[in-house]
This record gives sequence, structure tokens and C-alpha cells, in this order.
Amino acid sequence: MNNIAEQLNGAYHNIAENCQKLGRDPASVCLLAVSKTKPVAALLAAYQAGQRQFGENYPQELQAKATEMAALTELEWHFIGPLQSNKTRLVAEHASWVHSIDRLKIAERLSAQRSSALPPLQLLLQINISNEQSKAGIHPDELPALAAAIATLPHVQLRGLMAIPAPDDSERAFALMAQLSKSLQQQHPGATELSMGMSDDWPLALQYGATMIRLGTAIFGARTYERNE
Ligand SMILES: *Cc1c(COP(=O)(O)O)cnc(C)c1O
Repeated sequence: MNNIAEQLNGAYHNIAENCQKLGRDPASVCLLAVSKTKPVAALLAAYQAGQRQFGENYPQELQAKATEMAALTELEWHFIGPLQSNKTRLVAEHASWVHSIDRLKIAERLSAQRSSALPPLQLLLQINISNEQSKAGIHPDELPALAAAIATLPHVQLRGLMAIPAPDDSERAFALMAQLSKSLQQQHPGATELSMGMSDDWPLALQYGATMIRLGTAIFGARTYERNE
């Protein structure tokens, strides 16, 4: 598991270096350690190396890990996968952030199920930025209406946008996301976050203003299996 600490330190180092070149403050970028399919031991190795923000894709896996690691109170869970109505409660109970909102109904359920004892759940709207038929996310045209509706919900806060561009489309996609983010903030000044960039394309995402980058493979190594829920 030593490897994880090394990869994590390497990632922070690279991010700082890229930020310096871009004239950005490294503190303006949050690195999410995407830990889906990885065992708690791997997350603990990252935690011991200083990592606090983790990204998970499957509601039951999030619940299991958050429960097992509940004593580590500074841990912050980000849910970044597809979310069905019948699983919203698990996410409302365990996550601090959800990056993959693409339907009002899901945001309404999360708001209704979020305990008022917890801080509001922080939401990002997922944009299907490469317009891929098989992919989650809303079309950019749907953004203003969905954002306005979500902004009225009591136990959630609209914080920004997320996208997963098609592999051959990252630069155009990141540029368009930067524009969408700017226009969203004119109506919703608190929606400042831009979650984009993964192990293969994060330096380019940083160039276009990403504030949250989501690294799985670069920290934990290749995933040996993918799940589908
Ligand atoms: C799995 C996943 C990642 C991490 O991908 P890597 O290529 O392993 O860095 C990032 N974002 C989302 C939404 C994911 O599902």
C-alpha cells in the first residue's frame, strides 16, 4: 500500500507544478481520490498519506465504506456515479457531495432525505458534454431550468458542474464547460465548482479551470473489475 502514498504524493506534486505554470493557486484545486472497487485498506493507505476527499460510484459500496470508516470524521465522501431513485437515501445519508445530478427528481429526493442535522448536500449538475447517446448528463440547453429548480430545494446546495468528455473530445469539451460554468455563476454565484479531469486528461482540465479533479487509476492503480448496479 506504500505505493498509494507515493502515487498520491506524486499527484499532488504534479498538480502544484501545473498550477504554478498556469498561475493558479494549488489550493483552488481539490483532488478527489476515486476509490470505487478498491478495498478499505487502500483508502486507509491514502488517508494515512493525508487524503480526505474520496469519490465513490456505487451507493451500496459508499455506504459500506462510510460505515466502516465512520470513526475518521474528517473524511469527505463524494458520490460521482449514476444514481437511481431507489438508492438516493444511502447517498443522502453518507455523502457530502454528489457530482452526477441530471434529473430534478433525484435532487428532490436527496433534499427530502437529507437530515437537517447534517450540512446541506453539495450538488453538481452533470453535463453530457460530448453529446453521447449512451452517457448520463443533461444537454447544456437544459441547464438553466434544472439549476433554477434545484436552487429552491432546502437541504441541498447547487455548487457547480461536472462532465466526463468523450476521449477524443476533451479540449473542446473542457472549453465549453468553462463557458457553461461562467454563465451558470451569473444566475447562481455559489455554483463555482467545476469537476472535470481524470487520470488521463486532468492537466488539460486544469488549464480550463477545473476546481475538482477525479483521479482513480493514477492513485490506486488499475481497477481489476468494474461493477454495475
Ligand atoms: C472511475 C471514475 C473516475 C476515475 O477514473 P480514472 O481514469 O481511473 O482516473 C473519475 N470520474 C468518474 C465519474 C469515474 O466514474
